[in-house]
Amino acid sequence: MTSDTTTLTTPASFSELGLITPLLARLVELEYQQPTPIQAQAIPSVLAGRDLIAGANTGSGKTATFALPMLQYLAQVKDTGKSVNKNKGNYVSGLILVPTRELAKQVADSIKSYAAHFNGEIKTVAVFGGVSANTQMLALRGGTDILVATPGRLLDLISSNAIKLDKVNTLVLDEADRMLSLGFTEELTALLALLPKNKQTLLFSATFPEQVKALTEKLLNNAIEIQLQSSDASTLVQRVFTVNKGEKTAVLAHLIIQHSWRQALIFVNAKNSCNHLAEKLLKRGITAEVFHGDKGQGARSRVLDGFKNGEIEVLIATDIAARGLDIEKLPVVINFDLPRSPSDYMHRIGRSGRAGEVGLALSLIDHEDYHHFKVIEKKHKIWLDREQVEGFEVDNDAIETLLTAEKPMAAPEGTGKKKRKKKPPSINADIWLNSPDD
Ligand code: AMP
Repeated sequence: MTSDTTTLTTPASFSELGLITPLLARLVELEYQQPTPIQAQAIPSVLAGRDLIAGANTGSGKTATFALPMLQYLAQVKDTGKSVNKNKGNYVSGLILVPTRELAKQVADSIKSYAAHFNGEIKTVAVFGGVSANTQMLALRGGTDILVATPGRLLDLISSNAIKLDKVNTLVLDEADRMLSLGFTEELTALLALLPKNKQTLLFSATFPEQVKALTEKLLNNAIEIQLQSSDASTLVQRVFTVNKGEKTAVLAHLIIQHSWRQALIFVNAKNSCNHLAEKLLKRGITAEVFHGDKGQGARSRVLDGFKNGEIEVLIATDIAARGLDIEKLPVVINFDLPRSPSDYMHRIGRSGRAGEVGLALSLIDHEDYHHFKVIEKKHKIWLDREQVEGFEVDNDAIETLLTAEKPMAAPEGTGKKKRKKKPPSINADIWLNSPDD
């Protein structure tokens, strides 16, 4: 990959980006007053057909960044009277790969919304696991202009000849670092082998760990690189509370009751922890729903819809909710368990403070989490004051343990040797070994 990182003057309006009238009219209806920085910088290059690797904060408008140029390309090709693909049947022109079912649906819904002024001429279909493949096969009859897919289900549909990838014009990897991680390697390799060589490739994520960045080079050709992460510009406030071991649930319940947040999204690390925590909160008078990969797809959709429309106030989830989900004006995300990888920290907290809204991200750490949180801070170059929750002050012995773990240990008297500082528990930085959710 060669890449440009030229500083571009940021266009102030969507019309300056070169978008066509049906899209501009829709953006007015959606009350998008001006392009977000990633949209302003990336859309002209994507319209020009360039490959792109884009890193920008969660909630910064990445979907429109790839969706608007894709729609414009398809509309223009159709306008010229040329069929986008001569061999109709089971073609796809724009392929967007995403890591979770919910994100597939959300991205497809956004694209359909952006396409509202094309009078149904541009077809968008979402395919993902956990639901009947037959309905999706029917939807794919006659092909589709845009397909949003999770990799496993897409491979199944390809093997039943419901869709072919040889006419793909644009490939998007949304949450690209996750798509390129170990959990998806096999599926992604199989899919990439079916795609034509001369396509446009667009990679988007809020985080690009170094190991993943090396992989991206093989996928891109003369790509533009745009990195826009900026913690200064963030409207998301991050706070961390030190709590005594065994008191996290009590502290969480206290914070929820004290702050009366309209909604809260709480992350834990295991599916059964979701249910345990929900039961414990219920005993403290707080009703919470759970969202994890062991729930059936119907239940997953119901819970997510309920949370998105505000009927569910407290949601406890695993990391399947960490990626891409757009929950309007979500006031707070709470890390009850710290995420295993520093990248997931960013994705989790990015569910709040989206699209310029004010947001809050809280992490509860007991002494076992202390070093792990430092790794996360170091990775993201943040340093947060350790706060305590009134009424749940951490006992002095525990604080002492934390602080001594911080300082290099003094050499034991008489030995002349320095005592080795205890190594913090290693965490699996940025590599997902778990199998994908879908
Ligand atoms: P995304 O990062 O694509 O998930 O977008 C996050 C949220 O920002 C979504 O609710 C979008 O509808 C919204 N959004 C995207 N672009 C703009 C814009 N230019 N102005 C206002 N809101 C936007």
